[in-house]
Amino acid sequence: MVQLNETHDPALRSWVDSANYPDTDFPIQNLPFAVFRRKGSSEAFRGGVAIGDQIVDLAAVSAAGLFDGAAGEAVAAAAQGKLNALMALGQPAWRALRLALSRALRDGAAQQPRLQACLVPQVEAQYDVPARIGDYTDFYTSVHHATNIGRLFRPDNPLMPNYKWVPIGYHGRSSSIAVSGQVFRRPVGQTLPAGATQPVTGPSQRLDIELELGIFIGSGNSLGEPVAIEQAEDHVFGICLLNDWSARDIQAWEYQPLGPFMSKNFATTISPWIVTLDALAPYRVPFQRPEGDPQPLPYLDSEANRREGSLDIQLQVDLLTPRLREAGSVATICRTSYRHAYWTVAQMVAHHTVNGCNLQPGDLFGSGTLSGPTLDQAGALIELTSGGKQPLQLPDGETRTFLQDGDSVIIRGWCKKPGAARIGFGQCMGTVTAP
Ligand code: CA
Repeated sequence: MVQLNETHDPALRSWVDSANYPDTDFPIQNLPFAVFRRKGSSEAFRGGVAIGDQIVDLAAVSAAGLFDGAAGEAVAAAAQGKLNALMALGQPAWRALRLALSRALRDGAAQQPRLQACLVPQVEAQYDVPARIGDYTDFYTSVHHATNIGRLFRPDNPLMPNYKWVPIGYHGRSSSIAVSGQVFRRPVGQTLPAGATQPVTGPSQRLDIELELGIFIGSGNSLGEPVAIEQAEDHVFGICLLNDWSARDIQAWEYQPLGPFMSKNFATTISPWIVTLDALAPYRVPFQRPEGDPQPLPYLDSEANRREGSLDIQLQVDLLTPRLREAGSVATICRTSYRHAYWTVAQMVAHHTVNGCNLQPGDLFGSGTLSGPTLDQAGALIELTSGGKQPLQLPDGETRTFLQDGDSVIIRGWCKKPGAARIGFGQCMGTVTAP
């Protein structure tokens, strides 16, 4: 498990002024990774680390030979157009690079003049999906979401009996995962209208969001070699924001017996920045089960997982309708925390590999919709509107049940508490257009 070290010291200040603003997502204690290039340029995408409102261009750092040893090897791997090579190097390399960057970005660092030449302002950047995502698995780790949505799909049998024993998931589609700013057409598909005996084809009328986190696998495991829960987090590179857009009417008709298919594979949006588990270390909280719930089976249980397996990541969903956009406003429709998840990151890795399944650098897990215990903490419109029966009242007088063409959704995430630096995730935005 992660220990706090000098890179977490809340008193650290950077010579990049904007990294010291109290509300910044990217103080010197964060140092998340993305791939980027200058907007409108034909430059190659390369790895970057956020610091305040700037990006440390890791290709430039590598070319300048600023770091040596393990940090030098890591920065050379991160100079590529995707982060898979850096991810494959493993946790000692990620830690060495984090420490080298932290020291070089501090007030008074001797490397300041040479590193300053490697900064690119974030306003000038465009981002790409940060890894070649070989496989994408979407989990279902919120018991509140599973219960709420189960009640809508199966009123007599909301929570399946396996839920409290198995970290449920399905294998998703990686080709349609795009970075924040994604614009996609409303999906067309097959649905069974209420009362009808035959399905129809047409644009989804119940297009929804799913507030999730994305978990990037770093170093993989060999086929046939399970990862024990004690080592599970060594295989995790970091966490981003994720919106698993979902067509509920298509889903309702198709989901039995094999689960979601066309209702989910048309678009998934992730934030450009991956926040490392190291950066999140101050925000670990105990993993606890409600009184009377079954305890996890031994391969899903460890002392460390019980003590600090959960993460207190604050999450917020904002809806931006065309009218709100014109008025320069947004409607916040959900606030919750990742701490309410029923299964932890370590349990997801241990479960995914218990049968010998091999994970590879750059694989992505979705956490599943992260609904909290109360209705205003629900991470999907289908829950927030009770299955579309109770429209959301937006501040400008508009209403919404499901998304309309032109709507954008913005997910934000951050960690904050006294005695630790604020760690932010930036944002994950996507927009639906007419089919
Ligand atoms: Ca999902």
